[in-house]
Amino acid sequence: MNDTSPRIFDASELVLATHNQGKVKEIRARLDGRDVEVFNAGDLGLDEPEENGVTFEENATIKALAAAKATGKISLADDSGLAVSALNGAPGIYSARWAGAGKDFKVAMQRVYDEIQASATPDNMDAAFVCVIALAWPDGHVELVRGECNGTLTWPIRGADGFGYDPMFVPHGHSETFGEMDFDTKQTMSHRKIALDQIFVKCFTI
Ligand code: IMP
Repeated sequence: MNDTSPRIFDASELVLATHNQGKVKEIRARLDGRDVEVFNAGDLGLDEPEENGVTFEENATIKALAAAKATGKISLADDSGLAVSALNGAPGIYSARWAGAGKDFKVAMQRVYDEIQASATPDNMDAAFVCVIALAWPDGHVELVRGECNGTLTWPIRGADGFGYDPMFVPHGHSETFGEMDFDTKQTMSHRKIALDQIFVKCFTI
């Protein structure tokens, strides 16, 4: 094996380095059936590290490494967000922060819509959900993958399922928003599904 080969997940335990219950639900569903015991960062009492990176890759790495070093176990983090074309990729890595301290995504979605209306291209509703997954080992090794799901934003928002910006995002080739789709349907096409598929191919044999 040469130095560029991905490191293989060779443990029986995995920590999910996220406090976002929407992400936890989706990632756990994809880990179902694998012979691995999954721990949630919240249940382990782990703090949320400061996300001071400037890319999805940097923030995913910060979160996964913090959990791996704190627990001594291989840890998986997801840094994700909505990249809006008319807003030059915003809110991007700031997607969670646009919801404010109250984590109110109705406020965040209204801001996205208002900023598109005020932009140079108010008719351009193109957007993509981005998900970068970092798998980190306690010795500091990190494997990274990225998944993207392209779509169009819709207004007013539709649907009460999912989380975050799901009610304003219609993936290409579909008419329902992620907020209207049932859970399993979103899992067949989402940015998170694409990233998880990649990390499984790259690092998992189980
Ligand atoms: P972070 O990765 O913790 O910085 O947060 C990412 C934010 O992006 C979440 O809080 C959501 O607002 C948004 N986001 C990421 N993935 C999804 C998704 O699958 N649906 C809706 N919103 C998402």
